[in-house]
Amino acid sequence: MINHTQAAKTISLEQYGIKNAKVNYQLSPDQLHDITIEKNQGVEASSKALAVNTGEFTGRSPKDRFIVKDDITKDRVWWGNINIPFDSDKFEKLYDKVVNYLSEKEVFVRDSYACADENYKLNIRVINEYPWSNMFAYNMFLRPTEEELKNFSPEWTIVNAPSFMADPEVDGTRQHNFAILDFTRKIALIGGTGYTGEIKKGIFSALNFVLPVFKNTLPMHCSANVGKDGDTAIFFGLSGTGKTTLSTDPDRSLIGDDEHGWTSENTVFNFEGGCYAKVINLSEEQEPEIYSAIKKGAILENVIMNEAGEVDFKDTSITQNTRVSYPIYHIENIQVPSIGKNPKNIFFLTADAFGVLPPISKLTPGQAAYHFISGYTAKVAGTEAGIDEPLPSFSACFGAPFMPLHPAKYAEMLSKKMKEAGVNVWLVNTGWTGGPYGVGTRMKLKYTRAMISAAMDGSLEAANKDNYHIHSVFGVQQPRTCPNVPTEVLSPRSTWNNDEGYYKTAYKLSDSFRDNFKKFESYANQEIIEGAPNVR
Ligand code: ATP
Ligand code: MN
Repeated sequence: MINHTQAAKTISLEQYGIKNAKVNYQLSPDQLHDITIEKNQGVEASSKALAVNTGEFTGRSPKDRFIVKDDITKDRVWWGNINIPFDSDKFEKLYDKVVNYLSEKEVFVRDSYACADENYKLNIRVINEYPWSNMFAYNMFLRPTEEELKNFSPEWTIVNAPSFMADPEVDGTRQHNFAILDFTRKIALIGGTGYTGEIKKGIFSALNFVLPVFKNTLPMHCSANVGKDGDTAIFFGLSGTGKTTLSTDPDRSLIGDDEHGWTSENTVFNFEGGCYAKVINLSEEQEPEIYSAIKKGAILENVIMNEAGEVDFKDTSITQNTRVSYPIYHIENIQVPSIGKNPKNIFFLTADAFGVLPPISKLTPGQAAYHFISGYTAKVAGTEAGIDEPLPSFSACFGAPFMPLHPAKYAEMLSKKMKEAGVNVWLVNTGWTGGPYGVGTRMKLKYTRAMISAAMDGSLEAANKDNYHIHSVFGVQQPRTCPNVPTEVLSPRSTWNNDEGYYKTAYKLSDSFRDNFKKFESYANQEIIEGAPNVR
């Protein structure tokens, strides 16, 4: 099933305007691993994983992500500072510059696809300047078989040139780096940044447009897994809230860790073929599955190692956003193919640094839609400035930077699907307890896992059949007891030991929710409006 052999064939890139390139077509991950080391672009860690530095950029650059405004997109995309328009002619010119830049060079090309469901399969050709970026594409996209490669015809093309620098004045970019989607030419053009996440999120953004518009399928920024009884669970959440961590569960088969589609045939499928996990503070004890996935074939990004090649996962001197990518089969318990049935449980994960949201609560359909549109999490401000006030952060659909359409479009589809499927929706605070960031502590991972298990196996419902407590500020149903979780942890107020401070902070967060929601009010019905938190 896994194809490690090098395809004997090579291909010409003349049709892309890339001339006289030395084309390395469809190299195996082992070959790419070795070439990266030969070229001094990476080293091997003691785990045998490849370790690279992505350069100037160690995260995505949302302000430099553009969509070409053309006949397909002009009346459909929700234009603004998230979906920034790019001129068609400018795109042509910049594309020509990038392919000229790649001409005469050694390049790495890989044919792959997205979408684990045959009916939605999107063939992708990835053209990379660097071998490790091409290995990332092997890890993260789906891998065609030898047979499928014979008649492979690419639909989308990713052209990825990290060392190409744009000239903003001439090229129409904001600065030297850019990630631009052209839906007419079906090209993702990425330059000036080596951050690999741009590659996967480029295709994600393309699918987030194509699937709802043309295929009646809801794309979701979520992880998914399935239990022994075939019950699917999906986990929405912004970066760092726990999608990857919590979906990687030894008792449940992993469908995928970041991007899924919910079809009109009542299935959920993974877009990807791999995982991209944060490794900050990773420990073997707390996250054994992810820890063990870091082996030959995996790519560590921007980590610090000692002389022996051992990674110090606590070291954030390059970035907080240290990562590892690996093909999904590095995880033992996976669903093959990466498809599940309609979800039975949906979890909205939020890392509430104010420490006021309950660690788990149940939502009504109106609240579910409200929270989906809001997409709340919190950011903790940089410690260097001495500020430790958390900042609320709202990102519609728990993934606004990747959603080309208006959030209401995705919200409508989700509400409809949730009702049809009769799914339970839970809000899970994986953030702070016992006080805000700086005072309290992060919720223990083992408690979050226990709460999620209890929600999924029905024991939370059974234990709270007659009396969930309705939270006086957020209106959500807060369980009074939960198996394997100390009772006092379930009530954030009681963990604070300071009622006045608690309510002050809770209402402050409630105000932020309401301020943020104003721009969506005209799209929301009465049921959704009533899902809002209460005012003072
Ligand atoms: P991204 O969209 O950027 O991939 P993500 O939602 O997948 O983000 P994770 O990679 O799962 O986020 O990151 C969650 C981080 O928080 C991990 O480093 C995990 O160890 C840590 N963590 C600490 N406490 C908890 C908790 N109670 N629940 C979940 N994660 C926790
Ligand atoms: Mn993740």
